Amino acid sequence: MRLHHDKHHQSYIDNVNKALEPYPQFSNMIIEDLLRRLNDVPEEIRTIVRNNGGGHANHQFFWKVIGAPGQGQPTGALAEAIDMDFGSFDAFQSKFTDAAAQHFGSGWAFLVVDPPTKKLDLMTTPNQDSVLLHGRPGLLACDLWEHSFYLKYQNRRTDYLKAWWNVVNWPVVTSRYQHFLEGKQQL
Ligand code: MN
Repeated sequence: MRLHHDKHHQSYIDNVNKALEPYPQFSNMIIEDLLRRLNDVPEEIRTIVRNNGGGHANHQFFWKVIGAPGQGQPTGALAEAIDMDFGSFDAFQSKFTDAAAQHFGSGWAFLVVDPPTKKLDLMTTPNQDSVLLHGRPGLLACDLWEHSFYLKYQNRRTDYLKAWWNVVNWPVVTSRYQHFLEGKQQL
């Protein structure tokens, strides 16, 4: 994780900053706004911003929703929404794991909120695509790139996923959902 944070994540930051340097009106924006407004970004740097800016936003999100092992389970409104939209916490966990395991190649698995219906949903994205490109606030993010597990688990993505559940920081995920319900912009 140290290598992942200090090298992989850092390179996305360096690349997006370099591309944005000649465009101060964009380089001063927070990364989430930049991705929400990707179509306003000059075409010549749009793909770099999508990939590397997405890489920065996704990793920043990922580090926030993991932590010390044993952070229990969702509580309050989030626990109720998971029961409502997936049937139970176990059913949610198994659907998320299946989606993450079956996603082909590099990418991400997310628990998101669909703003029009306010329902929870699962989605996977390819490469470093952010859920913000789809206008869907993210609650939980799991990195599916091999760099996130290969050193410890080699090709065994499902072993990584199983271990990853132990470090999900449910209080943070729960508060992200609370922010959505209160109409606050998701970072
Ligand atoms: Mn990564």
